[in-house]
Amino acid sequence: MTKVRTRYAPSPTGKMHVGNLRSALYEFLIAKHAGGEFMLRIEDTDQERYVEGATEIIYRTLETAGLKHDEGPDKDGGYGPYVQSERMKTGIYLKYAKELIEKGEAYYCFCDKERLESIKTEVVEGKEITMYDKHCLSLSKEEIEANLSAGKPYVIRQNIPNEGTTTFHDELYGDITVENAELDDMILIKSDGYPTYNFANVVDDHTMNITHVVRGNEYLSSAPKYQRLYDAFGWESPVYIHLPLITDENHKKLSKRSGHASFEDLLEQGFLPEAIVNYIALLGWSPEDNREIFTLDELIRDFDYHRISKSPAVFDIVKLKWMNGEY
Ligand code: GLU
Ligand code: ZN
Repeated sequence: MTKVRTRYAPSPTGKMHVGNLRSALYEFLIAKHAGGEFMLRIEDTDQERYVEGATEIIYRTLETAGLKHDEGPDKDGGYGPYVQSERMKTGIYLKYAKELIEKGEAYYCFCDKERLESIKTEVVEGKEITMYDKHCLSLSKEEIEANLSAGKPYVIRQNIPNEGTTTFHDELYGDITVENAELDDMILIKSDGYPTYNFANVVDDHTMNITHVVRGNEYLSSAPKYQRLYDAFGWESPVYIHLPLITDENHKKLSKRSGHASFEDLLEQGFLPEAIVNYIALLGWSPEDNREIFTLDELIRDFDYHRISKSPAVFDIVKLKWMNGEY
């Protein structure tokens, strides 16, 4: 049997929200319950979204919550996490992108800003969506060579045909099938040479032998593109578990304004780390009986990811206070 290996893969973009901590906790529990390994991978290839100090917040939060990760690239010097901007220096992402080009599953795109802006945008659910028009897919080998040797800036895009459908499987949502025509030829390698986090995420989950991925369901819409990448490489995709949203009492997305959206906020309000972890474990998961008080070790023993729920979880500060021993 393959060893269960999970990872928490945060982008360092700010505080650690309750939803992020839940993903990390579930990943940790899935691994530990199965006697497997839990990895930490910092996804910092998006320089524009990077927030100074955010990586330290992640380390601190995981440590305070007791979610110790197992493995890092510098095994001899301790257990440092994987950091994508460091991994990039080995050329790993470009190597795999080129492999996709060879297979016809990706292509060079030399379009400049003006051209991209001239492509019609569609408004879907209030958001402007630009579907790349595949202009550069029809460049000849000679044109591509000429552009490359002239040093013309380029990106590498995923080649998704307009025909057909793509199906992926999620543990909670089952099989989901989408029309390929709705999937944009997303960028895999940016013009600065950095991989997009979507691409680095797939390459790393595979090369790190990750077996289970837990993340928020805001990533469901990207999952078909991930699936196509796995298929293109001939890789087996990990088990995906996309978690439903955590809402406040008014069934709105848990926001900063609620005052309890992040782990740090909760600590500042005097909640004990153990109580927060206990409470968050139950935001979308329940044991077979009706116990509600768990230590981390008890969670490890009893956590069965097949019992994760698909319905939105409501954050209830009163309950957390109760778990904190306030009543
Ligand atoms: N870096 C992505 C994030 O914010 C990772 C998503 C995933 O876990 O695959 O949070
Ligand atoms: Zn182009």
